[in-house]
Amino acid sequence: MANDKCIFCKIASGSIKAGIVYEDDHVIAFNDIKPLAPVHVVIIPKRHIGMLSDLEDGDAELFGRLAIAAKKIAKTKGIAACGYRIVANCGPDAGQEVFHIHIHLLGGRNFTWPPG
Ligand code: AMP
Ligand code: ZN
Repeated sequence: MANDKCIFCKIASGSIKAGIVYEDDHVIAFNDIKPLAPVHVVIIPKRHIGMLSDLEDGDAELFGRLAIAAKKIAKTKGIAACGYRIVANCGPDAGQEVFHIHIHLLGGRNFTWPPG
């Protein structure tokens, strides 16, 4: 169910424009508005789920679809061979800003570990 206050639901429905890079029946992905790497794509389920800690057993396939979408987008963006990082922030300590579950696909440069 879409959440009418949620910016990512609005992107999923097309009522807010974004640079869409991938879409299928369940998932949509768009360029991050404040990119932190040469490739920075936000990948979301079309269905509203607030955060990782809201996931239920029945969401396992849907969450897996985000990783599969990341793989496909990495290939089309030319970063599949050199590598990439996916990140999912949950809650205040992780700095989650948008409360519609998503993963970040980051690539096109080297990343340090551990993250900041
Ligand atoms: P997080 O901290 O994991 O919640 O990250 C949310 C991400 O969404 C941030 O990297 C934002 O730059 C990005 N973002 C927020 N609003 C938009 C938007 N309208 N279009 C694209 N990216 C957005
Ligand atoms: Zn939403």
